[in-house]
Amino acid sequence: MCRHLAYLGEPVSPAEVIVEPPYGLYRQSWAPRLQRHGTVNADGFGLGWFAPGDPVPARYRRAVPIWADENLLDLARVLRTPALLAAVRSATAGTSAEQSAAAPYAGDGWLFSHNGALAGWPSALGTLAELLAPADLLTLEARCDSALVWALLRRRLRAGQEVGGALADTVAEVADRTSARLNLLVTDGRVIAATVWGDTLFHRLELGRSVLVASEPGDDGPGWTPVPDRSVVLATPDAVTVRPLDLTTAA
Ligand code: GLN
Repeated sequence: MCRHLAYLGEPVSPAEVIVEPPYGLYRQSWAPRLQRHGTVNADGFGLGWFAPGDPVPARYRRAVPIWADENLLDLARVLRTPALLAAVRSATAGTSAEQSAAAPYAGDGWLFSHNGALAGWPSALGTLAELLAPADLLTLEARCDSALVWALLRRRLRAGQEVGGALADTVAEVADRTSARLNLLVTDGRVIAATVWGDTLFHRLELGRSVLVASEPGDDGPGWTPVPDRSVVLATPDAVTVRPLDLTTAA
């Protein structure tokens, strides 16, 4: 399992969010505290961020462990952004080890990360592939279960579905066809939306200033709120809402 996080709020450097916290995402790549599956997250990493006023995010991704990248610490120190999504990866068996499979995935103004796995990948593809057009399958961003989940979610976002509903319905349609862990995380720079389905997730709101949604707390300070399993979270610096994932709404 991977670890991921998203931040929205007053502009910060990625270093403040992922490197400086004592148990932050950087450290979680070799010493996660709450990870339920896997031990280290050394199969690549990625950052995606928005510049103010620009709806198209930038990404910096590598297939190496985050601690082995010679450029990351400088970049993370000098960049400033009001919206960031980052992940460290522990690759699921049978998936690509390449940079293309390191989150965040991106498209249509969204950044996406998946903490979890589809049972039986790649054979699980069969029943799920029926949900996608051939063009979507041929243009999957990577040979990875997460890329398939992203394509399913993206189809709903493109159709104009509200992001919380799109996430809930994507979890429902995947979970209906194969057993899966599906902690999903997206942002368009204005809202963070996430699901909890099989692994840990927390949020920390500093009302009016910032919000953080993360697989696990980056420090032992106050304000970290665990999100119950089987939930959908919508978060902005002004409010966090959590509602149960109701599988009876399966698409
Ligand atoms: N299945 C995804 C991948 O291989 C996510 C893995 C994870 O959560 N460890 O990248």
